[in-house]
Amino acid sequence: MSAMPPGNPASNPFVSSPTYLMACQQLRNVARVIDLDKGVAERLMVPKRSQIVAVPVRMEDGHTEVFVGYRVQHSLTSGPSKGGLRYAKNVDLGEVAALAMWMSWKCGIMNLPYGGAKGGIAVDPAELKGGEKERLTRRFTDEIQNIIGPRVDVMAPDMGTDEQTMAWIYDTYSMKVGYACPEIVTGKPVELGGCVGRKEATGRGVVYCISEAFDELNIKSEGATAVVQGFGNVGSVTCDELVKLGTKVIAIGDRYGSIRNDRGINIARLNEYVSKNERKTIVGFPEAEAIADAELLTTPCTVLVPAAMERVITAENAGKLKCRVLAEGANGPTDPEADAILANTDIFVVPDILCNAGGVTVSYFEWVQDLAQFMWDEEEVNAQLKKLMLGAFKRVRDEAKTRKIGNRLAALSLGVQKVAREKSKRGLYP
Ligand code: GLU
Repeated sequence: MSAMPPGNPASNPFVSSPTYLMACQQLRNVARVIDLDKGVAERLMVPKRSQIVAVPVRMEDGHTEVFVGYRVQHSLTSGPSKGGLRYAKNVDLGEVAALAMWMSWKCGIMNLPYGGAKGGIAVDPAELKGGEKERLTRRFTDEIQNIIGPRVDVMAPDMGTDEQTMAWIYDTYSMKVGYACPEIVTGKPVELGGCVGRKEATGRGVVYCISEAFDELNIKSEGATAVVQGFGNVGSVTCDELVKLGTKVIAIGDRYGSIRNDRGINIARLNEYVSKNERKTIVGFPEAEAIADAELLTTPCTVLVPAAMERVITAENAGKLKCRVLAEGANGPTDPEADAILANTDIFVVPDILCNAGGVTVSYFEWVQDLAQFMWDEEEVNAQLKKLMLGAFKRVRDEAKTRKIGNRLAALSLGVQKVAREKSKRGLYP
């Protein structure tokens, strides 16, 4: 079966993206396993609504630059659409559509009352100066104002955006509607109605999954070793949490390079080093040696955590991985060819849509608290997060065992079936 979505490829604006084709291929693969109705499968392949906007920004030196921004809402079936906003140089419509589709399955596995969405602006945030990032964010919010709303589409941080970015979106939207509307975004600063523990939630969820995998495989976290690709929000919190369990993080990479220390990298000192250097990079950390980026993912370890970009594990390197557990902190780090190779190894895969679902789960807690105007404490947030993550992990493992399939197909199966069930029950209008 082809990975192509239905209809004429020439009139489908997403298909030039290999990431979108990858998401379609995953959907086709799981559709076979769960015997998904063909009509429903086709409806799930094409995002419900997409908007492309020009975002003109006055730059610090006085000239005007126009950036291209995207917001894709994959599904509106289960509730408002939900998902991050990414600032990255090469982001395009198809990539955003794939990420939106994965958000739908992620919310489905976690039983959250959301459809999936994602946004992006093609910009390298490291190159923005002074007030440029704020002006870009506010103008983008204004440009997509007509398709967002607390009951329509709720954004959150992703690569290149953070709490401050969400605060600007919250403020811009609130100014437009004329009242403070914190429930328009999640991942805000706590002072503005953000949820305690949201910033750490994705990394914490990743480590809950790793612990569950270790338990099943009879691996002790003390003495285990980890390699982490990415040292942004997800990668750095994952490292912090692994260290708390006694696991040694022996190699880390970021966009500038990779470092290794077999005695275990001191994460507290690395965090300090990163916060103090201008590029906010791990490169040059004096307590580790530099290694080639290509070596990072194939470094022998107990658990490998890709926590950066999509499609980094491919047919080229999948056969060379030397980990026992692959815990996908990033969205879409493993492509379908690599999956087929991993299926013939004993590597235990914790797939992205389960592994990194802690972020959107605590986003859901934040949205509920903002709607109810009642705040939880961190103990409650973390206890609920743990409960929902462990429940989802168990459901995925049960599905994998019952259907005799791998964890990725099992996770996709649960996520897709939840959305498909709702679609079928609601029926097709008119
Ligand atoms: N960007 C995160 C993700 O990929 C979080 C989305 C959210 O919290 O809505 O899951």
